[in-house]
Amino acid sequence: MEVFVLAVFGCVLVIVPSILLGVWLFRGRCPRCGKLFAARVVGSSKMATIMSVDTIRNPQTNATEEVAMRETGYLVTHRCRYCSHEWERIETHAQRVDGLTPHELDEIRRRQL
Ligand SMILES: [Zn+2]
Repeated sequence: MEVFVLAVFGCVLVIVPSILLGVWLFRGRCPRCGKLFAARVVGSSKMATIMSVDTIRNPQTNATEEVAMRETGYLVTHRCRYCSHEWERIETHAQRVDGLTPHELDEIRRRQL
C-alpha cells in the first residue's frame, strides 16, 4: 500500500512540474516562426470587468465566507522579437474585493444570475 502511494506521489511530482514547465515555455512562443521566448508585449486594452460572489472555506476555522471577486479581461498584443509577427491573446486578472456590505454582495449576486 505504501509503495503504491509513493509511486503515485512520485508520478505527480514529475508530471505536474513538466506540465507547468511546458506551459511556461510555450507561452512566449511565436505562432509563426515557432521560436521560444519570442513574445514581447506591445499593447493591451481592457475589455470587460465582471464582478462575482464566490464562497470560500477558511482552512483554519473551516468556516465558509462569501467574497466578491473582480475579474478583468485584457486583450494583450504580442510581437515576436525575431520575425515581428503580431498576435493577440485574452488574459484575465482576478482580484478579491474586500469591505463590501451584505447589501452590495446581494446586488452583485443578483446581476450574476
Ligand atoms: Zn516569430
